[in-house]
Amino acid sequence: MTDFAGLTAVVTGGASGIGLATARLLAGRGAQVAVLDLPASIDAGLEEPLAGFTADVTDDTSVRTAISAVAEHFGGIDIVINNAGIGAQGTIEENEDAEWLRVLDVNVLGMVRVARAALPYLRHSSHAAIVNTCSIAASAGLPRRALYAASKGAVYSLTLAMAADHVREGVRVNCVNPGTVETPWVGRLLDSAAEPAAERAALEARQPHGRLVSAEEVAAAVAYLASPDAGSTTGTSLAVDGGMDGLRVRAP
Ligand code: NAD
Repeated sequence: MTDFAGLTAVVTGGASGIGLATARLLAGRGAQVAVLDLPASIDAGLEEPLAGFTADVTDDTSVRTAISAVAEHFGGIDIVINNAGIGAQGTIEENEDAEWLRVLDVNVLGMVRVARAALPYLRHSSHAAIVNTCSIAASAGLPRRALYAASKGAVYSLTLAMAADHVREGVRVNCVNPGTVETPWVGRLLDSAAEPAAERAALEARQPHGRLVSAEEVAAAVAYLASPDAGSTTGTSLAVDGGMDGLRVRAP
């Protein structure tokens, strides 16, 4: 498929997990793909034809510099996949203010900074789209996820607000809400558990379809929302969670 031919996509956090699967899929479908990620991830090298650009989404100057460099390199920007994010565990009593500010800085303000820097370029595109990576955590009431859930709840609200603000400029804004996805991040989570096998089994059992979601399944949903096929879709969230949200699965 070449439905992204002639379009340039920026994928933040595109060196790993969901972002990498999305970058690969968009490139495979004809897009020119710029991966924005931390120096350590970019310096480790990216496979062809992905182009790496160093940026820390908590640093506005580095974001603006990277977005300008992408636009100059490819002659514009049509699609932003706002995906870089970090996890957090705990109740509100288990995370101090500094940890709240650190996670919100990456997960919420990071997306704002990237979108703000890219909007002047997106307005020039006839297929402009932003897709934010939200999470089932925004709506499921999962235990010991207060900070992470609040950050993704903010991403969901931000998606709706941005969709309203930019719809008449031809910029669509949507989000995907994954369940638990098989990525290096979840691998690290399992490795740190007291009983990794039992923890994995619990995560699998929590999803109605009985397994973890693959990064490729999330990438396919992101690609649809980013594609010209979704030209009349804005302000929506697409669940990729094995039925957790649609079947109203809640934490016990
Ligand atoms: P991952 O850890 O495999 O990849 C995250 C990427 O983001 C990494 O390449 C990392 O270097 C990059 N990154 C982190 N902080 C950054 C920063 N300050 N600036 C630039 N890049 C930065 O994680 P993943 O599981 O692929 O998660 C990607 C997104 O999906 C996140 O927003 C996460 O909240 C969301 N998500 C993940 C799951 C899951 O179960 N894995 C579920 C729902 C939502």
